[in-house]
Amino acid sequence: MPRTSWRDAREASTSLGGGNRTLVGQALQEGFTSLAHATTEGRLESEILLARATGLSRTALLTHPEATLSLEQVETFRKWLTKRADGYPLPYLTNRVEFYGLEFSISPEVLIPRPETETLVDLALARKPKTIVDIGTGSGCIAIALALKLEQAQIFATDLSSSALRCAQENARRHGVSDRIHLIQCDLLSTLRGPVDLLVSNPPYIARNEWESLPTSVRCYEPRIALDGGDDGLAVVHKLLKQATRLLDTRGPVNHIPAQGLLIEIGATMGDRSSTLARSVLPS
Ligand code: GLN
Repeated sequence: MPRTSWRDAREASTSLGGGNRTLVGQALQEGFTSLAHATTEGRLESEILLARATGLSRTALLTHPEATLSLEQVETFRKWLTKRADGYPLPYLTNRVEFYGLEFSISPEVLIPRPETETLVDLALARKPKTIVDIGTGSGCIAIALALKLEQAQIFATDLSSSALRCAQENARRHGVSDRIHLIQCDLLSTLRGPVDLLVSNPPYIARNEWESLPTSVRCYEPRIALDGGDDGLAVVHKLLKQATRLLDTRGPVNHIPAQGLLIEIGATMGDRSSTLARSVLPS
């Protein structure tokens, strides 16, 4: 959305010819009230949405509560408030999210990157890998954060969804790393050949019995393909482990390099079950 100046905003509102003008301060208060039941961060979210609808910074909004908004700005803002009040995720309205200190574009076709996934990036960086595969890349957030920190690394990023790959491509371009991230449309690792140093993934790992307890914003609006881990939450992890053996064991124990390995994000209660599964599938 293009940024507009206060002069533009004032001119836009003047051209409405006066009448029922909405002031910034009123709009923010209206937003806060509308979002009171949907989020504990109603004030902040209201500011973020109005900033996005006007192209102005939050600081500009807060320091000019007396400024008038154009009809179009007010309409956009109210439309977004209604959606947000129904539980629609804020980042899908702003189309932006911050991950690892970087801004990413997102759409409802990709999972909203979560702060806990930054740990996966840290663990991967500590290994200093030269070749990496990010499996189920979604917005590309993991692959791109790694590419920016590991300037020599070659990175492959896979996803089954072409919309997700388009999103990852846009983000890779935006961060200037599209020449080092090879995007591949496939189911997990199916078309890849090894060897590679490191496999990383934040796979779908929500178990069937957890589904109903997910917040509405996740259950109803984030892509099911990015969340659904089958009956026990481990269906995709299991498939991934089986495919991973093909890429990881080509190098064999003789050439073992510390960078080599597999990092998978899992749910908080899945540790023991996942280790047992990994031991049964991966070569020792
Ligand atoms: N890799 C992306 C992320 O961590 C998408 C993960 C997914 O779709 N399960 O946000």
